[in-house]
Amino acid sequence: MTKVMFSYVKCDKCGKDSKQMNVSSVNFSLGDRESNVRLMEHKQKCPFCGYEAPIIGKFVSSESVKKLLYKIECHNWGEKTKEDLYTITYDIYDNLDCDYSGVDGNGKEIERLSLQLSKEDLEDINKNIELAKNDEMKVDAEDGEAWKFVKYDDGQVVWEKPLGYIYNIEPLEKIAKGLKSLVDAFNKYDIDPHRNEVQFVYGPPDFFRNQNTKPEDKYDIDPKDNVPQKVYGVYKPQVNNYDIKPEDNVPQKVYGVARPSRDLEDSIFIRVSNSMKKRVLSIKYKNINECYLYVGNDDPKSDSEYISLIDKAYLDFLNELNKVKETLSTSYVYKGDKNIKWHIMTIIKGQKDEYLGDGGIPLYWNNLMDLLAKYDNLYKSNK
Ligand SMILES: [Zn+2]
Repeated sequence: MTKVMFSYVKCDKCGKDSKQMNVSSVNFSLGDRESNVRLMEHKQKCPFCGYEAPIIGKFVSSESVKKLLYKIECHNWGEKTKEDLYTITYDIYDNLDCDYSGVDGNGKEIERLSLQLSKEDLEDINKNIELAKNDEMKVDAEDGEAWKFVKYDDGQVVWEKPLGYIYNIEPLEKIAKGLKSLVDAFNKYDIDPHRNEVQFVYGPPDFFRNQNTKPEDKYDIDPKDNVPQKVYGVYKPQVNNYDIKPEDNVPQKVYGVARPSRDLEDSIFIRVSNSMKKRVLSIKYKNINECYLYVGNDDPKSDSEYISLIDKAYLDFLNELNKVKETLSTSYVYKGDKNIKWHIMTIIKGQKDEYLGDGGIPLYWNNLMDLLAKYDNLYKSNK
């Protein structure tokens, strides 16, 4: 019986996958002799490099194969020497890969690039190919670039625009222009053009917050205040300038602002006492989701005595405390005749500061007391 199978084959010559027919047997008692002979003598042909043989390479599983959708060629023609001639081929795949290769008039490869289309690029090509199908316009020209378009479906050629000029065939001109700009952009920038879009940039990171938070909580400006910044292409240190002019400025890649790793826990400890009573405040800050407050008459005995503190409350506290700390000195003990002892210890981003008082009080003491009272109330109302 006649047994014909289609499968994907990796070409021995160029290494690319294509769908090929494999004839394992032919039943000559059925059908006409001529077509049976043709089947028997069937040769596989690689659509990429043209290699032809009964079997051009090894089978590959269809799931692992990206499918060729279009092969688009650009040839420059006219009165040129062989060295000036070139053929550029764009192989466009269903996974948005676009393999670009250029060969000169002697068939020598001069350039090879792996480009990436955007979904929109591919949609535009699909749309323009459909439009071009109805456009049988013939263009006479003698010089310049000629183009060839081949559309594939599951390895088979389903439409073809033979090599010819495409001047004034608008949908094809659009495709050609799009492919050329893809190459231009690829050569100009270090990322694929379609990935080059305005990123959300929420200002410099706030070191008090951690990486697992939502973007809008992570940075110090509001997303709605986030506007594209002026970025003039890729900085070239050797010429101390940017590679494009401001007027050609388009949004560049911005990967946000690098964040130093944060694995240190902040802690704030304040103890104030006189002969009558003692107040202790303790804050532990691990990250935006893990910040805890304790206020009591004694040092906390266990973690269960802490309540959760929202990030804003922590930052407000820190802000107020910093104003007081700016006026404090770590180099001596505040001595005086007041019946009061106090101890402030902060470890912020690994930096430890400690202040001690024995009978003396510093400037802005009342601010500190107000702050303690406020968080004392906050603690009580949430405990
Ligand atoms: Zn090949």
